[in-house]
Amino acid sequence: MSDDTPSYGFDTLQIHAGARPDPATGARQTPIYQSTAYVFRDADHAAALFNLQEVGYIYSRLTNPTVAVLQERIATLEGGVGAVCCSSGHAAQIMALFPLMQPGCNVVVSTRLYGGTVTQFSQTIKRFGWSAKFVDFDDLDAVKAAIDDDTRAVFGEAIANPGGYIMDVRAIADIADAAGIPLIIDNTTATPYLCRPIEHGATLVVHSTTKYMTGNGTVTGGCVVDSGKFDWMASDKFPSLSQPEPAYHGLKFAETFGPLAFTFHGIAVGLRDLGMTMNPQGAHYTLMGIETLSLRMERHVENAEKIAKWLEADDRVDFVTYAGLESSPYYSRIKDVCPKGAGALFTFAVKGGYEACIKLVDSLEIFSHVANLGDTRSLIIHSASTTHRQLTPEQQEAAGAAPNVVRVSIGTEDADDLIADLDQALAKATA
Ligand SMILES: *Cc1c(COP(=O)(O)O)cnc(C)c1O
Repeated sequence: MSDDTPSYGFDTLQIHAGARPDPATGARQTPIYQSTAYVFRDADHAAALFNLQEVGYIYSRLTNPTVAVLQERIATLEGGVGAVCCSSGHAAQIMALFPLMQPGCNVVVSTRLYGGTVTQFSQTIKRFGWSAKFVDFDDLDAVKAAIDDDTRAVFGEAIANPGGYIMDVRAIADIADAAGIPLIIDNTTATPYLCRPIEHGATLVVHSTTKYMTGNGTVTGGCVVDSGKFDWMASDKFPSLSQPEPAYHGLKFAETFGPLAFTFHGIAVGLRDLGMTMNPQGAHYTLMGIETLSLRMERHVENAEKIAKWLEADDRVDFVTYAGLESSPYYSRIKDVCPKGAGALFTFAVKGGYEACIKLVDSLEIFSHVANLGDTRSLIIHSASTTHRQLTPEQQEAAGAAPNVVRVSIGTEDADDLIADLDQALAKATA
């Protein structure tokens, strides 16, 4: 299949986009190109590649043919013009911010984020001289007020961890647009099957491909997708893209590569110098997983809806945060933001608090107690005693990880088996 076939449906594209039979052997499945380097045709070819005058393979820290297929596959599914894969979701976040930020710059971010992202943004990026301003994205005036002259991006999750809250992507995109800065959406928990942030005005989409995109808990990976729609030359805020790049003889990425500027910069500067590269073996596992993305997401959502409803009706449970429940304040956003469903990640509160949650987690047989999500297997974690245990009870509450709450990532097993497992464990937990 060639690049100019965007009219195919999602189910077709998740199998075919970016891939073609191997030109050397006819191999139908994408080969794992386990090669560090690629032979230049001659010295002129090498020079053209190093000058970015010709696109091709030099060295696998920058580009690899197996990884390239995955990049094109994800870009196509998200409706972007290009994508850069990297070693993890956290790497993708740094790769997305790196061309935009400089010391003294900030990013306005949602308070509802994956726990590791909260740490990356509140602590680690300070070492680069960057900072993050945490804002409740349901308060649009607060988002507007937080943006200042040094803000270089707005960042949020379409379906946010841990509670499965749904972001009004269009409203936040309009605010970023008016400020002349890009909106970056972490689409990990929604996947492009449930939500396509670029259609709602996002500039960049980042993924932890570790989760649903791979789908089976085998490899870590990340990806940054560019919509190709942002005008990097419109202001002097983004010199990495709009100004001459000394390491490439003064080439200006935005001028030379147009809508692909961000993608080329991600490879030619980001991967070259930061080195957070996805390896071809990892790309292979993710390519295997992504072929069934829509099938898995349908089942994830179907199961999550059944189980959330069952939990909500159970008197051993105080509340369930799933946005797919009519009782959720986010229910009304589903039809616009993620019309095929609210995902499969949510929290619920167990009567009996901290001790009951611990007992529940220890009593489950099908659910695994792990710090992961988006696996075919159902997963559970008690955040207050694990990922969020360093926080005060007030901070845990604000993060949606109160001591009486567990987070589940509903898998694709038989829903009735999962319900029976929860039933027996709740009985032990609240005895
Ligand atoms: C897991 C996750 C990340 C981080 O991804 P890694 O692949 O673990 O580095 C970022 N955002 C969300 C929403 C995640 O679930």
